[in-house]
Amino acid sequence: MISRLLIANRGEIAVRIARACRELGIEVVATYSTSDRDSAVVAMADEAVHIGPPAPRRSYLHVPNLIEAALRTGADAVHPGYGFLSEDPDFAEICDIEGLTFVGPPPEVMQQMGNKATARRLMAEAGLPLLPGVVEPVRTAEEGRAIADEIGYPVIIKAAAGGGGRGMTVVHAPEEFAEAFTATRAVARAVFRDPAVYVERYLTRARHVEVQVLCDGHGAGIHLGERDCSLQRRHQKLLEEGPAAHLTPEQRADLGALAVRGALSVGFTGAGTMEFLVDDAGAYFMEMNARIQVEHPVTELLTGVDLVREQLLVAGGRRLHLQQEDVVTRGAAIECRINAEDPARGFAPAPGHLDVLQVPGGPWTRFDTGYRQGDDVSPHYDSLLGKLVVWAPDRDQAVRRMDRALAELRVEGPALHTTIALQRAMLRHPDVRADRHDIEFLDRSLPELL
Ligand code: ADP
Repeated sequence: MISRLLIANRGEIAVRIARACRELGIEVVATYSTSDRDSAVVAMADEAVHIGPPAPRRSYLHVPNLIEAALRTGADAVHPGYGFLSEDPDFAEICDIEGLTFVGPPPEVMQQMGNKATARRLMAEAGLPLLPGVVEPVRTAEEGRAIADEIGYPVIIKAAAGGGGRGMTVVHAPEEFAEAFTATRAVARAVFRDPAVYVERYLTRARHVEVQVLCDGHGAGIHLGERDCSLQRRHQKLLEEGPAAHLTPEQRADLGALAVRGALSVGFTGAGTMEFLVDDAGAYFMEMNARIQVEHPVTELLTGVDLVREQLLVAGGRRLHLQQEDVVTRGAAIECRINAEDPARGFAPAPGHLDVLQVPGGPWTRFDTGYRQGDDVSPHYDSLLGKLVVWAPDRDQAVRRMDRALAELRVEGPALHTTIALQRAMLRHPDVRADRHDIEFLDRSLPELL
């Protein structure tokens, strides 16, 4: 088993990991950049190591500093959280070489799933349904246009190495293709250091449904139900919920089984997510995330399973102690991402000093954050201030509970703006209330919600 774990991350996920470690009796080594030296996780940890200046590439992305911190403090494992190095197979491999247990799948699996075109090919081989498109990178605009003509418009050009909603362009007509192709490749090269792009059919009016999977290192795997993450702004999730109430019980069971089959077929281990797009005609595999996700608490509230705990246990070599039939999903859960952004100014980051942080309480109401009142929200990192998550016996009560909790949440500071008011407006919209929104709803409805 793991006895001392280094957290190669910051913010709410670092605190979340530290909590799971505490409950398992695992010692915690926190890492912090200069601007995070007084953060909550540093205060919670058994030991904390300064890993560099605020700029991520000199701290949370700086592999030698992190490895040295782990070795110097006697850690035997490293948890990468999400973002930063969590999907970097080289980091996982270096951990292996240094005798550190990396909390995540084997590097080869990370490599394969980190490339969306490769992931598509492997999942097609495992029998998962795909959207029409290619499984190899497309090299030229002419080649891409021929493919697009064949699959029919609209299509989406996607960076194979992309993530975080970036490196994707929707193309509605052949004459737009060449320019979109060049632009997407440029973004892919600049942001993801890999110009490879591929093309698939773009689904309008679809829902984003993802299945949580958990696999051990002995060939066993289960799923823990699904989440609907259709409320997105420019392909970035803002509100997640579960279960996907619009699925039939058969569809739900099928998706779960497909997700487990796909994950096991590539030797995946740990906690991961299989993402699908769903419309009236069917469900299609989109991509796999081989790490813990921001929205994992939704599943925790629905199932009562502590996903980070399970992730740590299987990383330590344990067999899964849960069978598929042990996983029972009850009620409805919703998560709102509370971002330090100004929706009225194009969601520009709005960090600053947190004069007031008053967290809601009450029944089945959870707030995961790495910030405390009096902290500074740093402009160097993503804008996630915290995640408000609620559970209730049914979706309607969960929506009401979330509205109540959002009203209690106070986040104030001279420069701060947040997504709180937008979240409340979203939850009051008749389409969201009736659960008939799709992935384009928010981009379409933003003007009336602001
Ligand atoms: P990332 O890794 O950047 O999150 P994803 O592949 O998960 O990228 O896609 C993010 C979002 O983009 C999806 O949730 C969906 O809203 C949209 N999207 C991606 N591919 C398609 C598609 N083929 N058709 C319609 N929407 C898509």
